[in-house]
Amino acid sequence: MHFDTIAAISTPMGEGAIAIVRLSGDDAWKIADRIFQSPAAKPLCEQPSHTIHYGHLHDPATEELVEEVMVSIMKAPKTFTREDIVEINCHGGITSVNRVLQLVLTEGARLAEPGEFTKRAFLNGRIDLSQAEAVMDLIRAKTDKAMNVALNQMEGKLSHLIGELRQALLETLAQVEVNIDYPEYDDVEEVTIPLMIEKGTWVMDEIDELLRTSSQGKILREGLSTVIVGRPNVGKSSLLNSLVQENKAIVTDVAGTTRDIIEEYVNVRGVPLRLVDTAGIRETEDIVERIGVERSRKVLKEADLILLMVNSSEALTDEDERLFEVVAGMDMLVIVNKTDLPTKIDLERVYEVAGRDRVITTSILQEQGITELEEAIATLFFEGSLESNDLTYVSNARHISLLKQARNTINDAVQAAQAGVPVDMIQIDVTRTWEILGEIIGDTVQDSLIKELFSKFCLGK
Ligand code: GDP
Ligand code: ZN
Repeated sequence: MHFDTIAAISTPMGEGAIAIVRLSGDDAWKIADRIFQSPAAKPLCEQPSHTIHYGHLHDPATEELVEEVMVSIMKAPKTFTREDIVEINCHGGITSVNRVLQLVLTEGARLAEPGEFTKRAFLNGRIDLSQAEAVMDLIRAKTDKAMNVALNQMEGKLSHLIGELRQALLETLAQVEVNIDYPEYDDVEEVTIPLMIEKGTWVMDEIDELLRTSSQGKILREGLSTVIVGRPNVGKSSLLNSLVQENKAIVTDVAGTTRDIIEEYVNVRGVPLRLVDTAGIRETEDIVERIGVERSRKVLKEADLILLMVNSSEALTDEDERLFEVVAGMDMLVIVNKTDLPTKIDLERVYEVAGRDRVITTSILQEQGITELEEAIATLFFEGSLESNDLTYVSNARHISLLKQARNTINDAVQAAQAGVPVDMIQIDVTRTWEILGEIIGDTVQDSLIKELFSKFCLGK
């Protein structure tokens, strides 16, 4: 395939320390040579591939010095797009990056459309569609953990799995054909029907498993919902504020979030948390007493993580004990706050309730113990106590919807087989399932879909 040379700023807009202008296409190196001068004096076209060069950019029209840069040159096919690539690293700042971009555009490159680099990687056979979408997720990943999921997907884990399912379906279809073509079988149905039921059920189970992980993938996007509970005045709001101040608050694009309860998104060591302070709604009420143990349990069960706070400068009260009862067996940490004051709490009782390694002592006032709390949260999460660490999550909405379709179609096939429907009718559903699964990895995908997908990418990727 042949494409013209495209260029774009491939680092986020703003005042970054460095910014990269990326070129991809047959003329990428040539265009760079027209504007780049280095102490080495040798043109880039005569340099080996995958090397970095220090030098200056000049505007050939005015002879003016534009930028001090580092230029990376990569020859096809071992590049992201499988085309010749040049990456010009320049100082951040919108004006200087834009000048560099303008310069390469003047010298013959075309401004890339959104997602066009990734689209080329796809069109040149470097990546499949689910990998391309993973790149898109990577660009948008809000946290390190979400980024890991995207990376794993990029490495083709999902593609591999889908490939296996499709292979099984294809083999089944082939087997059915063979059986039909060889009339020595008295009854074709007798041999092919059990095969279709067996393989179909297997594919269905595998899809269910994939869909099951999709809810976990969702957690990563929206954050682990984390509820801070405790009696009034133990320090819940103080904790919330301190976590928000310490950690970069995650900017959320979830629309229509009602603000009657205090809710904040924070990134704690790569773990996205959606923090809810129950104090905001019922500052002076004993919730457990008011709504009962069972109902409070139900409310709190919806949380992924519970931070139960008690006051170390007071003896445990009935209300504390009721809260202990409610959170028993849930994913929780007990925070014993106000350790700067004289201790009156029965710590042994707290250890008994929560287990020693789930108890963190803090003085939010004196900013103590917060690091330990954050570490405890991260440990729970990355050790998998808060959710499975299996990274083959399906978290992309399009994948989930296609998997559901495939599941329905193969289910139809299995049911039809069980009901004694003629084989050729069942074949249609099996073939359709194979096609739907193919759409996930872009195998049977139509042109329009590809276009729509890639137009969603950020510029420069
Ligand atoms: P909430 O009702 O549980 O949300 O508690 P707040 O966060 O509103 O705090 C209640 C009071 O306790 C406030 O006056 C805080 O300044 C104070 N407080 C919070 N954390 C500590 C702490 O670690 N030590 C001390 N001595 N006071 C604290
Ligand atoms: Zn409060």
